[in-house]
Amino acid sequence: MKVAIMGAGLSGLSCAIMLERNGITPTIFEKRSRTGDRFVNGEAFMSFLTKPIDDVVRYLAEEFQLYIQPVSPINRLSFHSENENAIIDAQTGFINIRGRHRLSLENQLTDQLQTDIQFHASKSYESMLREYTHVILAPGDASYAEKLRNFTEKLSVSLKGAIVEGEFDNDHVRVWLNNDIAPNGYAYLLPLSSSKANLVMAYPDAVSASKEQTEKQWALLLNSACAQVNQHLHVTDQFQITNYKIGLCHAPRIGNTFFTGNCFGAIMPFLGFGQFESILTGIYAAYDICGYGKYEDYTRPLRKSFHDSFILRRGMETLNNDAFNFIVKQLDGRIGERLFSTDRNIVRAGSFLLRPFVWMK
Ligand SMILES: Cc1cc2nc3c(=O)[nH]c(=O)nc-3n(C[C@H](O)[C@H](O)[C@H](O)COP(=O)(O)OP(=O)(O)OC[C@H]3O[C@@H](n4cnc5c(N)ncnc54)[C@H](O)[C@@H]3O)c2cc1C
Repeated sequence: MKVAIMGAGLSGLSCAIMLERNGITPTIFEKRSRTGDRFVNGEAFMSFLTKPIDDVVRYLAEEFQLYIQPVSPINRLSFHSENENAIIDAQTGFINIRGRHRLSLENQLTDQLQTDIQFHASKSYESMLREYTHVILAPGDASYAEKLRNFTEKLSVSLKGAIVEGEFDNDHVRVWLNNDIAPNGYAYLLPLSSSKANLVMAYPDAVSASKEQTEKQWALLLNSACAQVNQHLHVTDQFQITNYKIGLCHAPRIGNTFFTGNCFGAIMPFLGFGQFESILTGIYAAYDICGYGKYEDYTRPLRKSFHDSFILRRGMETLNNDAFNFIVKQLDGRIGERLFSTDRNIVRAGSFLLRPFVWMK
């Protein structure tokens, strides 16, 4: 058996680790010069998105002996709408770092791998098919799934963000639900340390904004962030991503080709989270190759989550600032704490309630 992995990101590395532990040495191709060779950013694991799995760090360790060390738990979540603020004090997830940082998730996974990675690799899928018995497509986007007519795009989003310097509580994440700042989307301030944080706005490309409008929204977000943390935030290292595709592959496996991570459809449409799902698809592809079960069966719950998450996203897009004000007001205090601490999967419950309205639209 000869396995090729295209992409040394979350899903590719997780797959490689599991294959290696089962006696299969894959060949890993990474187009960049080292793992995580891109801008540094903070990302989150939110437990309300992964219920009934409450603690993904513990779950990955106990179920798969895959060890990740977040930079901080999230113990406080603040929501800001146009006129309301809510504070939720509950353990709601974890913050981790991605990209060119020694503690980035991709570097942590690389440390758990014995096999050498082939960097600066530009091997095509077609040549992999000829030379290997199994191919894992883990390039972090849907391009190959699309080329093989195996992907339905549901929406695409833009993300504009920066590292901001100031003084932060490491465990406090702030979220903006305000259409003046992120139309039909959201914005967040996610600390990477006590002196650096990520300030990001994410919104669907369908709400096409001119460059001037985007700059105005960014200025509004920065002002609001400065006001909320009561200090001047110094902006460094800006980034912008457009046309970040969110969708789902039709077949998770075609022949001996496995679609993993974002190439599978790991990004959940509601808030664009996909780290945990990407890691799982990598593990599941390896388990299939090792003969433990079928990739299609393992990934079925992720497909269901994708559809639930998509309905919630469509529901969110109908909300105006008055609705956001109402929601944020309700979230403040005990109601929010109970909602974020419940064992129920609120994405599933929310999509069940919203389904008739979204279908009618
Ligand atoms: C700005 C931003 C913020 C996000 N925030 C969150 C968040 O807070 N929480 C969350 O859960 N998710 C978040 N996500 C989504 C999450 O990062 C992705 O779902 C996840 O990283 C996808 O993993 P992957 O394995 O598919 O790809 P990646 O981890 O991106 O890895 C893909 C790798 O493949 C390599 N590659 C690409 N093409 C080739 C090729 N042809 N040959 C060889 N190598 C190749 C790339 O260089 C890269 O190293 C965010 C995404 C973005 C962009």
